[in-house]
Amino acid sequence: MPVQKKKPAAKQDNKKKDQKNAWLKYSQTDLKAVEKLAGEYRDFISTCKTERECVHEIVRQARTLGFKDIESVKKVKAGDRLYAVNKDKAIVLFVAGTQSLEKGMRILGAHIDSPRIDVKQNPLYEDKELALLDTHYYGGIKKYQWVTIPLAIHGVVCKKDGTVLNIVIGEDDKDPVVGISDLLIHLSQDQLKKDGAKVIEGEDLNVLVGSIPLKDEDKEAVKANILKLIKDKYKFEEEDFLSAELELVPAGRAREFGLDRSMIYGYGQDDRICAFTSAKAIFNITKTDRTAACILVDKEEIGSVGATGMTSVFFENVVAELMDKMGDYSELKVRRALANSHMLSSDVSAAFDPNFPSVMELKNAAFLGHGMSFNKFTGSRGKSGSNDANPEFIARIRAILDKNKVSYQFCELGKVDQGGGGTIAYIMAKYNMEVIDSGVALHNMHAPWELSSKADIYEAERGYEAFLKEI
Ligand code: MN
Ligand code: MN
Repeated sequence: MPVQKKKPAAKQDNKKKDQKNAWLKYSQTDLKAVEKLAGEYRDFISTCKTERECVHEIVRQARTLGFKDIESVKKVKAGDRLYAVNKDKAIVLFVAGTQSLEKGMRILGAHIDSPRIDVKQNPLYEDKELALLDTHYYGGIKKYQWVTIPLAIHGVVCKKDGTVLNIVIGEDDKDPVVGISDLLIHLSQDQLKKDGAKVIEGEDLNVLVGSIPLKDEDKEAVKANILKLIKDKYKFEEEDFLSAELELVPAGRAREFGLDRSMIYGYGQDDRICAFTSAKAIFNITKTDRTAACILVDKEEIGSVGATGMTSVFFENVVAELMDKMGDYSELKVRRALANSHMLSSDVSAAFDPNFPSVMELKNAAFLGHGMSFNKFTGSRGKSGSNDANPEFIARIRAILDKNKVSYQFCELGKVDQGGGGTIAYIMAKYNMEVIDSGVALHNMHAPWELSSKADIYEAERGYEAFLKEI
């Protein structure tokens, strides 16, 4: 490769931060482990594109590793591996410790919902012999990124008789896909003068699903044909959309990225990259003094609301159940268990992108391949809305990560006052536990295809495991 002028400057920046690229430290054995984990991760995000699919897959894996549904267990003893599922959309995994629960837990947390486009409750309509689905997007998206790409439909249709139909259309090579159109460049003079936020507007995210009219049908024959197809093939009627949760997500498997295959390109890495690595870490815990927990929640992208979001008392209730089954329950002890806990609240961060250097402050930016990222605080406009982690706790984490030779970096999402973001950390901090935002840095966060580094996935898993063993 020819020498590029900008290269030495970038190196200098890295030196200033006294950080090492994690790839440089790997032995052949390490590289094999990095590849193995990245392969498993790629499978996970390729098949788990909704919160429900994540819960089902994590339960499946957990059960093969000896985890049992807490409801099926009467008494819990040290070393027992348990899980609790909340409405199919959130899950908590535990490994019971030898110490009393009131001494506190070691907790990992991440979210398993991702930005996407949801089908409305009255979605199907026909316009000029084309059948479309009306949608309402979920989470923060740049709408113009979601047009002219193949979309798959994932979700459930719940019928009045109690049956729940699982729907996945668009992932098999033989499946059709659907999608949202954009205007041809030839006629886009007016469109291209609009603000980015309005180039494609929310109500225009209509998904084309069909164009063949049903024979002998006078009115809305294309819609009628789609309804017939849905009834024959998927066994539900138009009114069943009322009790459906159908999510439009980018179709297709996650890919290896880069000529050196060092990265992963795929949908929903915010925050399944932290959910996957956190689950992997607790799977590797067998014996522990303090009880280990891993919380994977829904609804983070819309404010952690709802029964399956982090603001729900589900986790608190499950801790009370666990304490009861450990034979040592009291309301006061539940409060102590939560207050004495330590937590890594994990979510993705922004990695420095050479295409957009102006939003980053280099001394406090995360870099792909530099390991796990930590945010002392998130928030916006003067740390507003963030959990500002305690430095005493941070010092203990640094000691554990250094001892275990985990690569990590301390960063901020971007320059001060460039925007910001929030996570579930502040919600857990309400219990007065020690909690810090950690995770993995991405390019293209919230885009249909997000980008991560295999090295960072590997370092995150190792960091989570060290935390569960030693904090
Ligand atoms: Mn997130
Ligand atoms: Mn997000």
